[in-house]
Amino acid sequence: MQKFIEAGYEVVDFEDKADVYIINTCTVTNMADKKSRQMIRRVKELNEESVLVAVGCYAQVAKDDLSKIEEIDLILGVNEKNNIVNYVEEYMKNRNKKIDISDLKYDTQFVDFGSITYTEKTRAVIKVQDGCNQFCSYCIIPYARGRVRSRNKESILKEITEIAKKDIKEVVITGIHIASYGKDFKEEYKLIDLLEDINKIDGIERIRLGSLEPTIITEDFVKRLSKLEKICDHFHLSLQSGCDETLKRMNRKYTTEEFRIVVKLLRKYFENVLLTTDIIVGFPGETEEEFEKTYNFLDEIKFYKMHVFKYSPRKGTVAAKMKEQIDGNIKEERSKKLIEMSNKNEAEYNNTYIGKKVKVLFEEREGEYMKGHTTNYIMVKEKTEENLENKIVEVEFKF
Ligand code: SF4
Repeated sequence: MQKFIEAGYEVVDFEDKADVYIINTCTVTNMADKKSRQMIRRVKELNEESVLVAVGCYAQVAKDDLSKIEEIDLILGVNEKNNIVNYVEEYMKNRNKKIDISDLKYDTQFVDFGSITYTEKTRAVIKVQDGCNQFCSYCIIPYARGRVRSRNKESILKEITEIAKKDIKEVVITGIHIASYGKDFKEEYKLIDLLEDINKIDGIERIRLGSLEPTIITEDFVKRLSKLEKICDHFHLSLQSGCDETLKRMNRKYTTEEFRIVVKLLRKYFENVLLTTDIIVGFPGETEEEFEKTYNFLDEIKFYKMHVFKYSPRKGTVAAKMKEQIDGNIKEERSKKLIEMSNKNEAEYNNTYIGKKVKVLFEEREGEYMKGHTTNYIMVKEKTEENLENKIVEVEFKF
């Protein structure tokens, strides 16, 4: 949208007649695919003469499917999206000729993410990287989003400096695979270098990391990380399975033993660290024995919270074609067991905090309470009439 505004276009409400409609498709779930298609059809009913452009992940992976929908004028993948205005204008000039966008040559390098930052009142989510080269067997993202592209450091640091001036205290560093940040740079500048630079920005008091691949966590990385006083001691490590055989079929690049070492390192360098994770249950071929291995490993690690996903096949991935797909009832049963464990862990951790003083960045009011989070991401509610929004205050933890 920003690109159109910069080029002098006016943005109107969805229900108003527009000359150009951009549909941002999404490929995260099958449901979303269906919704994208419905939306595409609806738009042409609003203005038959308009140029309808489909962009985003679904447009990237399912060009053939989308080209069967005759209402769509242009389909732009992730890289082409950067030059969207040029493509649309070229299309308008050649309206009655069928053009193939592969004949239009624009710079396809994704240089900056600028307008993608998402800001709440107390926290700003900064996307520093896009794409992934890992090809986990269940995941469509490397096909949908393409290979790793990192945002340049000057742009990130400038943006965070601006955000700090707006009195935002916390930044969340995210991306599709932030462990790969900088892998596409010629110079040696990695995630840890970026975090060290962000740590120097005045006004920012907390730096939180989005989901982190365990493979990046070496002793050197954790040592350098632990020296940054603004880094939050909460890490979301995507484990996915606690069984080596399953991890292998998932094409994950670590073993449970390597993961165990990572956890030990984080617990050694961060005294109050809390760890959360994602787990997939019912991955193709996951036997009772394999699930038991996962269960026991999780019981040993004791994550603060676990996000449990029942495996669902994504068309176009290796895992979707695997035989031995698991019955829905079994997935449900396994999921329930892990959710129970997660709830138990969370309650146990919270119990150890009762009566302790914790520093909370308060975010919003909820009735008689102000709600916020500690650095290690425990949610705290404080009964008070005072408006504590966007303040970091030390309070006694009650359950
Ligand atoms: S699950 Fe994560 S690491 Fe694996 S391919 Fe998808 S985005 Fe990449």
